[in-house]
This record gives sequence, C-alpha cells and structure tokens, in this order.
Amino acid sequence: MISRPKGTNDLLPDNIWRWQKLEQLIREECARFNYHEIRTPIFEETGLFQRGLGEATDIVEKEMYTFDDKGGRSMTLRPEGTASVVRAYIENNLQGTGLPVKLYYLGPMFRYERPQAGRYRQFHQFGVECFGSSEPSLDAEVIVLAYSIYTKLGAKNVQLKLNSIGCPNCRPKYLEKLKEALKERRDSLCDNCRKRSETNPLRVLDCKEKDCQPAIAELPRITDYLCDECRDHYGKVKSILKLWNVEYVEDSRLVRGLDYYTKTVFEFLVESLGAQNAVGGGGRYDGLVEEIGGEPTPAVGFAMGIERTILAVGDSWQKDPDVDLYIVAIGDTKDAALTQLKLARDHGLKAEMDHLNRSVKAQFKQANRLNAKYCLILGPDELANNLVKLRNMQDGEEIQLSLNDWLGGIK
Ligand code: AMP
Repeated sequence: MISRPKGTNDLLPDNIWRWQKLEQLIREECARFNYHEIRTPIFEETGLFQRGLGEATDIVEKEMYTFDDKGGRSMTLRPEGTASVVRAYIENNLQGTGLPVKLYYLGPMFRYERPQAGRYRQFHQFGVECFGSSEPSLDAEVIVLAYSIYTKLGAKNVQLKLNSIGCPNCRPKYLEKLKEALKERRDSLCDNCRKRSETNPLRVLDCKEKDCQPAIAELPRITDYLCDECRDHYGKVKSILKLWNVEYVEDSRLVRGLDYYTKTVFEFLVESLGAQNAVGGGGRYDGLVEEIGGEPTPAVGFAMGIERTILAVGDSWQKDPDVDLYIVAIGDTKDAALTQLKLARDHGLKAEMDHLNRSVKAQFKQANRLNAKYCLILGPDELANNLVKLRNMQDGEEIQLSLNDWLGGIK
C-alpha cells in the first residue's frame, strides 16, 4: 500500500466543508474590497523564486521542491504566491488595466519543511497583492481585509503584530549597527544565528531559540533607525488602523522570513495554536516588481495559511445538513422514488434516496445520518391514490400531500 507523501493531507468530505466555507467567505470579502482573483501556474522557473525571495532565505536555501523537467530546465513548485503574482503582473501588463491593481489568489504551496501540527509540505494559502500605490491607506487596507476575514470566521484571540523594517535608504545603516551588535554577542547565539549574522542578520531577530533571547533583547531596534519617509509612512498606517478600529501590537522584532519586504510588515498570531501560531502575514514590497524585471512599482500584500486558520476556528462552525430531503421507498415503489428524486433535484433541493435496498427502518436511519430535514415517504397504497407523506425530521410530524404537489408543501 502506497501512502500519501509525508507532510501532505487528504482533505476528506467530513472536513472539506470548512474549507469551502472559508473559501466562500474569502471570495465575498475580496469582492467587497474590490480584489480580483488571479490563478498562476503551480510551478515556475526556479530563478523566479531565487530572485524574488532572496538566496539567503530559509525557503530558497533549503525548502524548495526543485526539479529539472525533461527539457533540462530547472523548475520549482511554488513555495509562496507573491513572486508568481508579480511575474504575472509584469508579463501580462496588468498595470495597463488601471492602478492600483488589486489581486487575490487561493491555492496550494509547497515547502520541504519538517512536518508537524500546523506545518506541512503541501499547504494552502489565500493571499492578496496590491500594485501601483505607495499610499499607507493600502497597507492598512490589506491588513483590514485579513482582519475582517479572521473576525467573520469567528477565529478567537487573533493578535495583529505590526512593524516597519525600513527601506533601502535607512535599512543599511541599521544593518551595520545590527551586525556590530551581533558580533559583540556572537558567543551567546545559536549556530544558525551566527550564520545568519553574516548572511541575513535581520532574521536573527525572529530566532525562536530560548538561549538566544537574552542577546536578541539587547539588539538595536530598527524603528529607531527609520528615515523620515519610513517613519511618516509607518505613523500613517497606524493612524488609519486606529481610524478603522483595528487593534494591533507593535513589535520591533518582527521581520518576516523573506527579503523582499520594505516598510510595513505584519503578522497575525493565534497563541492557542502552539509552536506554529502564525496564521498569516505580509507587508509592503516596493522593490520586488523591479527586481523581477518590471517597472519600479510599489506594492503591498499578505498571505493567510488556510490549514492554520481552520485550526484556529476550531469547532465553532456548524455543518449545513447534507440533504434537504431523503426519499423513503416502501415496498415496490423504487421507480416512483427515482422519479421524485429527479424532480426534487431539478427544483434545487439537495435530495437523496436509498441505493442499497435497505429496509424501511434502515432508510430512516440513513436519513438521520445525513441530517435530512424532511423525508418523503412513498408507500404503495398511498401512491395508488396519488398521495405521499412528508415527515419533518426535526419534530417527527407527518402530513399527507398530493403526489403532484408535495414540493409546494416543502416550500
Ligand atoms: P509565509 O509566506 O511564510 O509568510 O506564510 C504565510 C502563512 O502561511 C503563515 O502565516 C502560515 O499560516 C502559512 N504557512 C506557511 N508555511 C506553512 C506550512 N509549511 N504549513 C502550513 N502553513 C504554512
């Protein structure tokens, strides 16, 4: 027996309704915010992610599913959505459709990570990307869009963390200071942080190793080094969030895993999820479009992890009944049942009947198992008089209706 690859999941009917509900809410909310769906390929040329995400990121260094195709080209299963959307934005000249261009995507992502609860090798993200404006109102908008989805889902205790990581004008100065401070504390850092101190010093700030924390607490804060433009931008994002009554916590250690961010970065956390408690995050990336070969274009976006978001919702959702109507055929009434089944479905009811020659008692049991709201009972004597019975499965009440008119009885 071959089993599914490590770190992947089969989404089964007893859970997929949660996904569908979340996806529906996402689509409705995106429509309210005027974001439009884009679907890009699941694999791209490897270079796109190397250039877009940065060589010294965890994803590019060790987590990509990269393979040579039969033509000898290096391809990679997308580990995240932004680089592909940026590529598609440039390649399809979407800037010509009018700025800002507001896009969203939903789909599987692939990272070769060590699987654990809430961390998979194939997982799913919903994300939005907004191109063509450097206005802080759009940073706030993507945050509010995510916030609004978490709120409407009923996900409890979602915390929004906010920071600014500056821009190519002010960050280099900070990085110099940071590197100096890291050098002084080299002996108090884990191996990974020592390496990161050279290759990607910002990432040391979000190291989770307990032993590194005292040293990290002493490191300089990026928010003390922001240039006027970045400070002003950050201030405006915060004041718009206040205007919209969005609660946030500032965290000067929040840096996010990817190189492309500028200015605003944010993350949504749900403490109760344990180690994998980030349910989404994002930020501004004003340099990425140019990096990938387009015109200089400011942009901002975020991505939400679908699996973790569903975990955060827990059991607070009620599943809709599987069927509105179950048709119970007594004796030799199967043809009549088939006719009524088609009629019910043609009229938009979710309808089912027995296909296993069950006894009448077992048919009712099956109707209960499917949470049917009504049973249409077809007995040979009643049918001979063009009559049927309709049982309300909630209160057990039965009424007799004409065979030609029972649909009206339901409505
Ligand atoms: P990132 O692109 O790393 O910022 O991820 C955005 C969101 O995707 C995270 O906040 C998680 O909710 C989710 N996510 C990232 N990696 C994984 C993974 N390996 N398994 C499940 N969810 C993930």
